[in-house]
Amino acid sequence: MSTDCNTTTMIPGELVKLGLKGITENILECKMCQLHENITNKVIMRGSERPKVLFIGEAPGKNEDEAGIPFCGRAGKVLDELITYMALQKNEYAIINTVKCRPPNNRKPTQNELRTCRPFLLAQIEILDPEVIILLGNTAEQAFCVSPVDWGKAVITTEGKRLIKLYHPAALLYRRSLMEQQKEMIDRNKDLWQRIH
Ligand code: URA
Repeated sequence: MSTDCNTTTMIPGELVKLGLKGITENILECKMCQLHENITNKVIMRGSERPKVLFIGEAPGKNEDEAGIPFCGRAGKVLDELITYMALQKNEYAIINTVKCRPPNNRKPTQNELRTCRPFLLAQIEILDPEVIILLGNTAEQAFCVSPVDWGKAVITTEGKRLIKLYHPAALLYRRSLMEQQKEMIDRNKDLWQRIH
């Protein structure tokens, strides 16, 4: 029998009622998939608790696992560069990941791991209540979306939020040429966060 996943005890609505502090406690205690077995720290969020823009990454890497902070390594430097380019102030954005534990050897989270951690992701989104959600790469899209979205093309979610998929910052580390495309996608969409006050 597979023992790696059991999603039956987590309902996003129940988690939302607990607030960010309660969610954090639940994440810290979570042992619902095997990822928790080999980590140093859970990686929960960084940034504002009332963000205009919420970035969703894939999974913590080595630096993030050591520090317990999302995007604090090399990919994080690229993300910070993009945030500066977007002219977002510190109190205007937050960053979370699809899963809160580092997968071994930085592999992608499995579908089961994404599904198991999804209630935390959905509850974080509901509580943070951003106007704009930015999916950083395909894994964030798989974790969040019912149907695929096009790169850089904003859509409106059923909750009325703007949703955009951009390249994951790690992809830009290895293919700097993608940075120009990323900036074009940002330029095309900047009204979404610049018009919100
Ligand atoms: N890559 C991610 O997707 N998330 C992190 O927190 C760090 C690197």
